[in-house]
Amino acid sequence: MIGPGDVPGEFVDAPCPLCSSAARRTVVERCPDRLLGHPGEFAIVECRDCQVRYLAPRPVGETLVGYYRPCGERSYSDNESHRPKRVSAELRAVLSADRGYPEAGAGASTASGLAHGRKALARFNDQHRLLPWRGTGRLLDVGAGGGAYLETMQSLGWKIEGTNVVPEVCADVRARLGVPCHHGELEALNLPPASYDAISLWHVLEHLPSPPKVLAEAKRLLAPGGILAIGVPVYDSPEAERLRDAWIGYDVPRHLLTFSRPVLRALVERMGFRVLGLWSEPRDRILRLSYERGRGYLGMKLLMRQTVLRRAYARKLSRQDRIGTVVLWAEPNPAP
Ligand SMILES: [Zn+2]
Repeated sequence: MIGPGDVPGEFVDAPCPLCSSAARRTVVERCPDRLLGHPGEFAIVECRDCQVRYLAPRPVGETLVGYYRPCGERSYSDNESHRPKRVSAELRAVLSADRGYPEAGAGASTASGLAHGRKALARFNDQHRLLPWRGTGRLLDVGAGGGAYLETMQSLGWKIEGTNVVPEVCADVRARLGVPCHHGELEALNLPPASYDAISLWHVLEHLPSPPKVLAEAKRLLAPGGILAIGVPVYDSPEAERLRDAWIGYDVPRHLLTFSRPVLRALVERMGFRVLGLWSEPRDRILRLSYERGRGYLGMKLLMRQTVLRRAYARKLSRQDRIGTVVLWAEPNPAP
């Protein structure tokens, strides 16, 4: 097995982060940090028991934190959208009629207006991030980043809170949105039980050394009837198969593990949730970054270079349910 070479730092070679099995096969022998360009090459292995793919060895402590720092011109936050989504009145009416939003659809909508709105929602790339309304609408976004998602949801009537491990990010969200943003790992925050109606983890689980711990905590924090929403990159996609180590979905070494659709579903069920849905997200971000940073062409250089073609390809893969990004909704199983 090939480690990170002569890069100084703290690394551990631990067994599978989901099932603790030590049985594994190598998927990629040496993968560099293509997104930011930090030094080092990492091996990606697949657990023979649960099929999750993970870094072996993986960086820990300050070494891991260092991989999130800017490298030359490239900074991790460059890749994040800081703008909240504008949700049109038409979509709000559909959220009100179909997803139980109490305020979003102010003003009655005609049947034909709703039908039109439903078509528009189906075309909305982020449609599965607009969670169905639950309880009194208390939403906790774990790993809230710049707060763009929280801001979108706040505009739709949710009572929002965030968490982040970077104190400056928390301070910024608090100052800008005037809402609580808790600093630290979710498991360490000691938030009161059953205090949220929705908990979202958008591209967070793949960064964590132990996703089962955070899912257990999410279950404790959800009120009865609450909803859990997860977005992750998944390797059961032609992108990942064909681009191999150039696929930015692996985002080595910040993604400590990479799910597939069945691996994600199995984990969520094992942690005591019932899966309500698992959908492909028609985003071309990973394809674009794979092209720009990984020189990954999928054998189709023209397609990858042309934004319009690339987006059309992403939509096609998504329709076929084979794109490399998914969203899952789940709710806690009632206690036995
Ligand atoms: Zn495993």
